[in-house]
Amino acid sequence: MVFESLAEKLQDTFAKLKGKGKLNEKDVKSALREVKMSLLEADVNYKVVKKFVNKVEERAIGQEVMDSLTPGQQVIKIVNEELTDLMGGERSELTSADSPPSIYMLVGLQGSGKTTSTGKLARQFKEKGKEPLLVAADVYRPAAIKQLQVLGERLDVEVFQMGDQNDPVDIVKAGLARAEKEKLDPVIIDTAGRLHIDEELMQELQDIQEAINPTETLLVVDAMTGQDAVNVADNFSEKLDISGMIMTKLDGDARGGAALSIREVTGKPIKFAGMGEKLDQMEPFHPDRMASRILG
Ligand code: GDP
Repeated sequence: MVFESLAEKLQDTFAKLKGKGKLNEKDVKSALREVKMSLLEADVNYKVVKKFVNKVEERAIGQEVMDSLTPGQQVIKIVNEELTDLMGGERSELTSADSPPSIYMLVGLQGSGKTTSTGKLARQFKEKGKEPLLVAADVYRPAAIKQLQVLGERLDVEVFQMGDQNDPVDIVKAGLARAEKEKLDPVIIDTAGRLHIDEELMQELQDIQEAINPTETLLVVDAMTGQDAVNVADNFSEKLDISGMIMTKLDGDARGGAALSIREVTGKPIKFAGMGEKLDQMEPFHPDRMASRILG
C-alpha cells in the first residue's frame, strides 16, 4: 500500500520523540535526521528532502514547541502540515469549461495507465449523470483503440475513433464536432504514448493542444517508477501546457517518493490517485489525507 514503508519508519521516529516528554534542540535535530533518511530511502528527490527538513526544523526548534506540554505532538503536527503543503496543500479540483463540452486530454508514457485512467475518469463523470465521449487518438498502437472500445462498452460510454490511418489532430477535431452535435460532455481524449519521451510525440501532442485548446491537459504518471516519474513530469511540463497530474499505481508503491516530490519539482498539482486496476479505483488526491496516511 502507498507510503507503507515510509509510514512505518516515521511513526517509529515519532514514537521515540513522544516518549521523551520534554524535548531539547538535540532531540528534535536527531529525530529530523531520521526523518531525512527515511524520506531519502522512500526515493524522495534530494533537494525536496533538504528543503522540507530545513523548513520543519525552523519551525520545530522554536520556543513554542519546546515550551509546549506535548512537544512531540507539536513536532508531528508541524511535519503533518509541511507534508500536506509539499503535496500541494489544498485539493486541486478538475476545472470545467465555461461552455460545454469540457475537454480533458490525457498524455503520458506508454504503460503509465493512460487508457485505464481515461476509463476511470469517464466512469466518475457518468456517475455524476454526465454523458462523456471518449476519443481514441492513439493511432500507433492498434490495441489501444480496441482497449478503449472495450472500456466504453463496459461503461456504456460512446467511443469516437477513426482507425489508425488518420492524423490525430483530425481525429480529435472530428471527435469534438461529434460531441457538440450530440451534446456529449465532457470529451476525454486518450493520446498516444511511447516508451520514452521523443520529439515527434511531443510535437504531436503540442499540435493537438493548439488545435483544440483543452480545458485541462492531464499528465498520467506511474508512481512505481519513483524519480523517473518526476523526471518524465518535468520533461512533459517543459514542452506542454500541463494543468495537473493523475498519479497511477499508488496501490503498489510502498515508498511514495514520486507522490512526495512531483508537486514541488514541477509546480503542478496531483488531481487524482490511481489505487488499482479496476475502473472504480481512482480517488481525488487529497494532500492532507495522504499526509495523515504517512503519520498514522
Ligand atoms: P497506457 O499504455 O498508458 O494506456 O496504460 P494502460 O492504461 O494500458 O495501463 C497499463 C497497465 O497498468 C495495465 O495493466 C493497467 O491495468 C495497469 N494500471 C493502470 N492504472 C493502475 C493503477 O492505478 N493501479 C494498478 N495496480 N495498476 C494500474
